[in-house]
Amino acid sequence: MDLPKGIKEDADNWQTCPRCYDEAMEPWIEKGEAVFASYGLVTLDEFTKAFNRIPNEPKEEDYYTFREDYEFYGADEGVIKWQYSGSCTECGLSASESGEFPFYTKKR
Ligand SMILES: [Zn+2]
Repeated sequence: MDLPKGIKEDADNWQTCPRCYDEAMEPWIEKGEAVFASYGLVTLDEFTKAFNRIPNEPKEEDYYTFREDYEFYGADEGVIKWQYSGSCTECGLSASESGEFPFYTKKR
């Protein structure tokens, strides 16, 4: 597949994929809520053991799987043109858009 004009081989940026991160957070939140909901309903020892079994919170930096490429150009023509393309290497979530906005009408 040909890359759109101005899109580079190397990514301009890598971001946390919002969908991958949400999916990682969901079981962690559910586990934590279940443990805290048991507070007062189980012995302190049982609560402490369950609390200690809650896995570590997923870190956003572990989900830097969303590649972003973007470019702005055209100031010399009086029309800023831009394009953005992003996609996750893990889940395939993607977004792309382009546009332009004139800010000066050249006389020549
Ligand atoms: Zn993803």
